[in-house]
Amino acid sequence: MLEYQAILDEILHEITPYLGEGRVASYIPELARVEPSSFAMSLMCVDGREFHVGAYEKRFSIQSISKLFTLTLAMQLANDSLWERIGKEPSGTPFNSLVQLEYEHGIPRNPFINAGALVVTDVILSHLQDAHQSVLEFIRTLCAKDDINFDFSVAKSEAQTGFRNHAMANFLKSFNNLEHEPSRVLNAYFHHCSIAMNTQELAKSALFLANGGIQHWSNTPILNARQTKRINALMLTCGTYDSVGDFRVGLPAKSGVGGGILATLPGKFSLCVWSPRLNEKGNSFAGTKALELFTTKTKLSIF
Ligand code: GLU
Repeated sequence: MLEYQAILDEILHEITPYLGEGRVASYIPELARVEPSSFAMSLMCVDGREFHVGAYEKRFSIQSISKLFTLTLAMQLANDSLWERIGKEPSGTPFNSLVQLEYEHGIPRNPFINAGALVVTDVILSHLQDAHQSVLEFIRTLCAKDDINFDFSVAKSEAQTGFRNHAMANFLKSFNNLEHEPSRVLNAYFHHCSIAMNTQELAKSALFLANGGIQHWSNTPILNARQTKRINALMLTCGTYDSVGDFRVGLPAKSGVGGGILATLPGKFSLCVWSPRLNEKGNSFAGTKALELFTTKTKLSIF
């Protein structure tokens, strides 16, 4: 039996010299107000065991990790019709790039780049009037925590400075790939990104992805097995910005510019790491290293 707690403790020790490397995202000014050398890691096993190290109770801005939950909800609501409006391929371009949209007629490459997430949000709005509150409630249910909330100062900060996202939503609208007003879609999207959670809550919320789509602690189906495979495949191929080919962790993962990375090993566990300083591609510097150490030490990965 693997000594998970000892392995996490060892990782914290080995990662400490790297906690000063990389830069905190500051293009959303509020995100820069974080303790930059923080680190936390949480492991949730499908058999119910859990292990943590570092600041695992400290909440941070989940940013693009929210795209995992909005996609899950949109798949519940719209199932396969979603894929008429969004692709399933890696983009090879930065998460906030507009270039492909022009020559691909407003169809975003995948749901994990910003353009794709805006369409996902639009789909949710078509089914649920109050998309931003519905996503929050969905996440609260996934991890059984009623006090998870938006960070309104982060949402406001992004609304004031997210000029690219404003451009992108308008561009999508010009291709008729948004049903709702761009401002409404953006308002919901910025709120989803601003949700604050800790590594323990994130790992718990995503455990259904390692458990065939079933939320383990309540035995509730969240997605069917086919949909669950699809999300894991998308995480593996599109989840870590335009550096997926260089992400040598060996687990499906979704990262966010708040410094979180959420990974799964289907059949075994979900694993969440947080450290706010990012590498040049936008993935957590120490977080990526910690995940690599974890799969190397445990020899547990999909490869
Ligand atoms: N709210 C961020 C943006 O749209 C999310 C980016 C990310 O975490 O990848 O720029």
